[in-house]
Amino acid sequence: MPWKSDIDENLQLCIHCRKLHPLEKRICDRCGSTLHQRIPHSVPTTWALAIASIVFLVPANLLPMMIVRSIAGEDAGTIMDGVIYFFEHGSVGIAAVIFTASVFVPFFKLTVLFYLLLIIHFKWHKRALFGLKLFRVIHFIGKWSMLDIFVVALMVGLVQFKNLATIVTGPAAVAFMLSVIMTMFATERFDPRLMFDTEPRHGRENRKKGNTHVRKEE
Ligand SMILES: [Zn+2]
Repeated sequence: MPWKSDIDENLQLCIHCRKLHPLEKRICDRCGSTLHQRIPHSVPTTWALAIASIVFLVPANLLPMMIVRSIAGEDAGTIMDGVIYFFEHGSVGIAAVIFTASVFVPFFKLTVLFYLLLIIHFKWHKRALFGLKLFRVIHFIGKWSMLDIFVVALMVGLVQFKNLATIVTGPAAVAFMLSVIMTMFATERFDPRLMFDTEPRHGRENRKKGNTHVRKEE
């Protein structure tokens, strides 16, 4: 079914008050918000943040998440050590929660982000609708991102309780938090409309009308 977007009509929508404006307008005359047809620099910023996030995920998983100091000595454990520890001690539920929040969810969110960026890069417009559904999922999960941090705190608390030892968070906790924050920003900066803009229809229609004016992102 043929459809038109704001780009075809040289319009832009104020995402705050929903008023339509011509492309030349920079500020919404109703609510004063800055107008952008698409989130500025959405693709390069999302790439940069997603790559930074994956870089931080490496030390987050390889370095110790917590250091346990007891009479027996010092013991450091990574996220996976924590998962294995709870699994072996019969707390399968806790192991599953830690694995989901600290390993599965961060990797899932990043995999989706890279897939969405590839949809734009390779103009896979037929996958745009599926991409949008995935984006909604990671956007929804994003609201619970701090759960990952809570899980780390929970893990530290539980081990402290069980072992009667002193626990301090290791360097992986900082790397993990930075990775989570980068993914959150990446999701915020991603503009899902760009996936639909890759349809060749836009180019054809604009050229037919002799109208190729798309406002450049500043
Ligand atoms: Zn407005």
